[in-house]
Amino acid sequence: MRIRTCVVLLSALLWSPATGAAPLNVVLMVGDGMGFEHVAAARLFKGGPLAFESAPHQAAMTTDSLGPGVTDSAAAGTAMATGVKVQNTVVSFDLATFTDLPTSLEILKGRGKSAGLVTNSTLLDATPAAFGAHTPVRAFFFEIAEDYLEGSRPEVLIGGGANEIPPAAAAAAGYAVASDRAELASLAATESRLAGLFAAGPLPYEYDHAIGLDDGYDTLPFLSEMTSAALSVLEDDPDGFFLLVEQENTDSAGHLPDPVADAKIERTVDAVLELERAVEVVLDWASGRDDTLVIVLADHETGGLEVLADNGPGSLPDVSWAGSEHTPVPVPVYAWGPNAELVTGTLDVTDVFRITTVPEPATALLLGAALAALGLRRRVA
Ligand SMILES: [Zn+2]
Repeated sequence: MRIRTCVVLLSALLWSPATGAAPLNVVLMVGDGMGFEHVAAARLFKGGPLAFESAPHQAAMTTDSLGPGVTDSAAAGTAMATGVKVQNTVVSFDLATFTDLPTSLEILKGRGKSAGLVTNSTLLDATPAAFGAHTPVRAFFFEIAEDYLEGSRPEVLIGGGANEIPPAAAAAAGYAVASDRAELASLAATESRLAGLFAAGPLPYEYDHAIGLDDGYDTLPFLSEMTSAALSVLEDDPDGFFLLVEQENTDSAGHLPDPVADAKIERTVDAVLELERAVEVVLDWASGRDDTLVIVLADHETGGLEVLADNGPGSLPDVSWAGSEHTPVPVPVYAWGPNAELVTGTLDVTDVFRITTVPEPATALLLGAALAALGLRRRVA
């Protein structure tokens, strides 16, 4: 027992020199389903490294859940948000005790920070839900919406799914509500609690806009524009903020059944490049600051993508897809700012929780008290 306690304390101490000061702001950016090969395909098409590939700290990350089978976005999101592995479809909820698992968004809000959820999926989809809601089943959309508006209450909610979060309900809960790009930009400049509720479901593929197949983005904001609006609102909090940004189209494209007819690689590459633009918005915002932790990662890989041949800049590479489901292949992680040095080697998806929430002031106090009790404090100092 005593040895075990010492081991725990020692690992906490070894941990502390690396952590330094807690970041004021934490921005977690998720390319849903974005594996190393998705990034490689976009790099080859672009003809050079993506903005996030120059991150000073990088790692590979395993994504296993408690199953069954390969993780879904609910279990992976829960692992990132709470540090706890759960079964697929579970959203930040402990099935054994039937209680909520506290999320990083809630913990950081508890430290006085503001929070935001941004996605081009529906806001009630599993990844944002894992940070701002708790349900035993990811499809309990009513519960998730209720948790957002009455429970976790992120200051910023921007994404698809105006059908699931009725604008009137958001307004009644105290949010200024934007329904298109122009409203989002103007309200973001003035409001301190903002909901951007767009489209009936997820927002369209960027590629479909580029080839004139879908005109949704004539009036709806791209992910990078949603990210910019979120920063405009959140930056006003002197206590800092937590912001989750999710690119869903990387996952959706990977799930398409027919690589050719469904333009899988075209839609995938354009989605990765839009995520890159969103990352550039955040890095531009954070440039010159030393108080903002930025992490870009995936929650799992989708499709078993493999790049076969480079066809030069402006041309898509030859690729193969193993299928149209999630795979257990490790995914990339890129990081900048305070605590970014913890992103190294091979991480597990649960590590995202501790990296985005340490140092935990309460834990530091407890550690100090425990060290004093053990007479270790002097030797350590
Ligand atoms: Zn998926």
